[in-house]
Amino acid sequence: MEKVVSAPQVSSGDSKSTGNVLLQVVDLKKHFPITSGLLRRTVGHVRAVDGVSFTVQEKETLGIVGESGCGKSTVARMVMRLVEPTSGRIIFDGQDITRLRGRELRRIRSNLQMIFQDPYSSLNPRMAVQSIIAEPLVVNTQMTGKQVVERVCELLETVGLHADDRLRYPHEFSGGQRQRIGIARALALNPKLIVADEAVSALDVSIQAQILNLMADLRNEFNLSYIFISHNLAVVRHISDRVGVMYLGNLVELTSKRELYTNPLHPYTVALLSAAPEPKRRGRRERIILQGDVPSPSNPPAGCPFHTRCPRVMDECRIQRPEMREVRPGHFVACHLHA
Ligand code: SF4
Repeated sequence: MEKVVSAPQVSSGDSKSTGNVLLQVVDLKKHFPITSGLLRRTVGHVRAVDGVSFTVQEKETLGIVGESGCGKSTVARMVMRLVEPTSGRIIFDGQDITRLRGRELRRIRSNLQMIFQDPYSSLNPRMAVQSIIAEPLVVNTQMTGKQVVERVCELLETVGLHADDRLRYPHEFSGGQRQRIGIARALALNPKLIVADEAVSALDVSIQAQILNLMADLRNEFNLSYIFISHNLAVVRHISDRVGVMYLGNLVELTSKRELYTNPLHPYTVALLSAAPEPKRRGRRERIILQGDVPSPSNPPAGCPFHTRCPRVMDECRIQRPEMREVRPGHFVACHLHA
């Protein structure tokens, strides 16, 4: 029988969340098979996500941060049910959606929307903005043509564009404006949860803040929850209530934004933060330069997944995998230093 690990359930000190759990992810794994030969026999697995548990509350933004290849985007795609989990459970709004299919899955999808990284490739260049934003309305609702047009105009104005922009095509817009169109499309069905995967990474720095502020305003206006995925610590800090840090397919630390940025406990988080510029911080964090490369997820190290690069590695770290533990109220970490 599958081992079920309870997901950390905490409220953040500075969250606007209601405290009600909207999404619970329990021991989620995704192992992609590696095939070889003419018969394409499975010769191994890439452990892209290797047992991740967390919750997202109503009106909460959970940031997930980590280097590229750590599995954060695979987590996002599993939550959206775009990628089939190998094991684990996804419970959304009280319903186990891990294995839902067909009509039931489509019904849930209207409450679960995604904003993609690249606003250039995520919008069909052959479709006018009106058709792009109207698509989910036409597929999922019984709205009349007039109602759809009214809703598209309303959505465009909500995201800071003009109703007349609906007649234009994606190539006529800047990157920031395209991302606004992507957000309007995500909002069309009044979702409860939006998964934003590197939603501002492709934008100029000056535009990033505008989009982040828009997303924060929309969260408050429409009572949204977000999972905000990024490799950029400053971006995650700007918008998140709580932050989870991923390394090699594992969540290694999870706590409130304030606690993570002032009192990181996991050596990987400490190293990440030491490399991030902090304009308002008095004094400097000692810069920690991690040695070596991230191990391959097809052959992860035994024991702690970070032990091959950890500056504080101990003997037991090479043998025993640390469990995620709550070491302070709402502060979870997977490290033998904090057992
Ligand atoms: Fe480092 Fe050991 Fe903690 Fe892993 S368990 S982060 S190797 S100290």
